[in-house]
Amino acid sequence: MKKMMNEILPEVVKPTCDPLKILKGQKALVTGANSGIGKAIAIAIGNAGADVAVNYIAHEDQAEIVCNEIKKSGSKAIPIQADVSKEDQVLNMYQQIYKEFGTIDILVSNAGVQRDSPLEKMTLEQWNTVLSINLTGQFLCCREAVKEYKHRGVRKGISCAAGKIICMSSVHQVIPWGGHVNYAASKGGIHMMMQSIAQEVAPHRIRVNAIAPGAIRTPINTSAWSTPEAYKALMTLVPYNRIGEPEDIAHCAVWLCSDYADYITGTTIFIDGGMTLFPGFATGG
Ligand code: BGC
Repeated sequence: MKKMMNEILPEVVKPTCDPLKILKGQKALVTGANSGIGKAIAIAIGNAGADVAVNYIAHEDQAEIVCNEIKKSGSKAIPIQADVSKEDQVLNMYQQIYKEFGTIDILVSNAGVQRDSPLEKMTLEQWNTVLSINLTGQFLCCREAVKEYKHRGVRKGISCAAGKIICMSSVHQVIPWGGHVNYAASKGGIHMMMQSIAQEVAPHRIRVNAIAPGAIRTPINTSAWSTPEAYKALMTLVPYNRIGEPEDIAHCAVWLCSDYADYITGTTIFIDGGMTLFPGFATGG
């Protein structure tokens, strides 16, 4: 009877990782990792025991700083320059990762930009730049990661899953954003792309999720928090009444790509201090 039950019951997932180094032995790529959210995630993933490829497009010195920080924890780190919107550069980046690390277990597809403008003044270049980096860039990076995950399968003793992807989205995958239609469209696209990839590759034990940050203190939105007036105005949109820090995102990312989150796929985790809770309705409606 006991034997029969064992045959019927699915394999129970037991994370075998060291609780202090929950990504030990894993190989990760974080795109756009030389500043802001990507930098914090790359450092946190490195501190959790993974070797990290630190992708950047410009400011190599910043990427070196991130690598040095990661190396302090005993993990390997390599800076890799690549424009994620260019297919040949993405392919080269993965080749460099395979050469240095042998394989990949974690992709954090984070690189993203804003080119803000009222609609009637938005140029096709502004539209294309944002869509190419934010959406096409994630497609290219996800495609290459999935190829390796499917081809290689689960690495026993390293992770329960054959590979993990985190797509960096935004609250603007659900909150419309006038003056930023290119950016909001890219994030809405990421949402459906992430879920469709997750559905397609789940049978291969590949987990694909998104994180949707709200207002986080990074260079992309300096004008929203760097003066007392701007900060006060921003707080009318944040029920939790503080700006998010890059580490708020990084802590979740480490957990989400660890075996502790092994049954999570196709989900978006909002990390926004309640920005998506329709704050105006606390006193209105
Ligand atoms: C944008 C920031 C903005 C935040 C909340 C993010 O996705 O990049 O500029 O402050 O959403 O609106």
